[in-house]
Amino acid sequence: MTTANPFNVYNPGPAFGIGSPWGWRTRNNIREKHPGQDFPALQGTAIPAAADGVVIWNKTLGGYGNCVVIKHTSLNGPVFYTLYAHLDQPPTLALGSPIKAGATVGLVGNTGQSNGFHLHFEVIPDQLNPLVKGHTTLDPLTFPQLKGSASHYFWSNHATPSAY
Ligand SMILES: [Zn+2]
Repeated sequence: MTTANPFNVYNPGPAFGIGSPWGWRTRNNIREKHPGQDFPALQGTAIPAAADGVVIWNKTLGGYGNCVVIKHTSLNGPVFYTLYAHLDQPPTLALGSPIKAGATVGLVGNTGQSNGFHLHFEVIPDQLNPLVKGHTTLDPLTFPQLKGSASHYFWSNHATPSAY
């Protein structure tokens, strides 16, 4: 087993584009931190889990709309979470159920505070409450391992970020 961060190989698939990046942005004249990476895709596109884990959230969550959060526990690394927002339908994954990397988390939607069909994807480091408003997040695209990985071609061949 590798000790590399598993997100060096997270790639939602060729049906997804690259949208608004993680970090500070201005929207409606308000400067705000965008806590995730957006991946625009058609409504109903299946979203793959980033890594093996356990479902710890499976319903609406404020502006995230229909939302799934997976807790990842690795023997070789720190605990972390991934969050998938704006899902088209209320999640069908049971709370506490295990999920494998690549298994479908839900379908791309436009629920919650969203102005277009896309996956809003977050990487959340271990913290007391990963779901409280203002939780700390990491940039899914800045892991150094990403460069040169199988997914690098995908990342580098998509258009510049769109508006949402
Ligand atoms: Zn977003």
